[in-house]
Amino acid sequence: MENLAQDKILEKIVSLCKRRGFVFQNSEIYGGVQGFYDYGPLGVEMKNNIKKLWWEEMTRGEENVVGIDGAIISHPKVWEASGHLENFTDPLVDCKKCKKRFRADTLLEGMDIEEGATDKDLLKDLSTKLKNKKCPECGGELTEPRRFNLLVETSLGVVEGEKNKTYLRGEACQNIYLDYQNVLDATHLKIPFGIVQIGKAFRNEITPKQFLFRQREFEQWDLQWFTNPKEMEKWFGFWKERRMKWYQSLITQKDKIRFHEHGKDELAHYAKMAFDIQYQTPFGWSEWEGIHWRGDWDLSRHGKFANKDFTYTDPITNEKFLPWIVETSGGVDRTFLFLLFDAYREEKDKDTTRVFLALHPKVAPIKVAVFPLLRNKPELVDQAKKIFNELKTCFNVAWDDRGNIGKRYYAQDEIGTPWCLTVDFDTLKDKAVTVRDRDTMKQERIAIDKLKEFFQTKL
Ligand code: ATP
Repeated sequence: MENLAQDKILEKIVSLCKRRGFVFQNSEIYGGVQGFYDYGPLGVEMKNNIKKLWWEEMTRGEENVVGIDGAIISHPKVWEASGHLENFTDPLVDCKKCKKRFRADTLLEGMDIEEGATDKDLLKDLSTKLKNKKCPECGGELTEPRRFNLLVETSLGVVEGEKNKTYLRGEACQNIYLDYQNVLDATHLKIPFGIVQIGKAFRNEITPKQFLFRQREFEQWDLQWFTNPKEMEKWFGFWKERRMKWYQSLITQKDKIRFHEHGKDELAHYAKMAFDIQYQTPFGWSEWEGIHWRGDWDLSRHGKFANKDFTYTDPITNEKFLPWIVETSGGVDRTFLFLLFDAYREEKDKDTTRVFLALHPKVAPIKVAVFPLLRNKPELVDQAKKIFNELKTCFNVAWDDRGNIGKRYYAQDEIGTPWCLTVDFDTLKDKAVTVRDRDTMKQERIAIDKLKEFFQTKL
């Protein structure tokens, strides 16, 4: 692999995403809104593949994990009980001269502040550390750091003046606590068990940036694992390793993933212990997923605010306890972006540069591209169409009959299609086609009636 200039990769990926229909800036024709993106035709395929892989890993990969799909708006009390109204804040500073606003921690190298890990001391500490800092944009003087709540407000009701303030969920996992008892009553599950969900979350991020990395509307995947407090340590370790293995299985650059343990000042308001799975992005080591020791925070808070008792009685031992929770919470959009970082390749090929995405075949938006060698030879086109229609019943398949084969390869490489298949004149005699591999560029002859099996074993 060529040594790519890291600072250019993000730019190149943003441009590729737009050019080939992975991701578009939302409302681009109106100048866009910061922190909002739309997934295009290839992007939605890739994102759905990623979500499907996660769902299969978490539900079918485990005996006692079930899913839910909860609403985006919940009772406003949920956000009081969860601590978000009080704690879901970022410290901000404004530039007195150019009026630009910054997250205070981003002005301090090597300091990463978790939302919610905040208190007066931390603000004081930040204020001291920022004393000699100037605005990075214009060199102007900065204000003292202040708190800013990240919940996105909305209102319910039709009559002006009588509308009720509520919030778009700031994290998807709250639905799981709200439905915990319902799931327990409706299923045969016994503790320990898990509930998973993939869903949108909304945050009024002050500085949405780095493309899909920090958005104001994004998707999260969560597992909440309910356990007997006595077994907390064991399950925390289990899920920490399990999640790391899963991410590792999707990437090729294995040295770019690591754990980062949260220091005391980084811990969220509920956490006793937390590890981030981080990826080394072009803008540094960055959080991909958090493994959180939530303890009894969530069920005890909702119990108190809703006046409900979530005590669990073990059906075998009769032991009574409030379940503790291990959370694994990751970002779908960050996964999408990090997998693109991981897969992006440039290789000099004679006088041109071959750009390709070495995506895991299960993640790639299109699995196979089918080409007739020449578009003006009906016998080739007919045979290729037959293969295309047959494969289409099993995989997402593309058709291309434009230009020459080399150009078609390049076009498919750029979007990460693992295999290209060409129907040529020999096909009409030997009933076989040429299959070309994206990463090695090696070609092999495969019998038409073995094609489905050939791809299926690799997917
Ligand atoms: P960060 O420290 O980067 O703001 P966080 O610790 O607040 O993230 P969590 O609240 O633990 O994140 O959310 C779980 C996951 O959701 C994160 O690991 C990340 O993958 C994703 N995520 C969080 N905020 C955003 C965002 N603004 N845009 C895209 N994904 C996000």
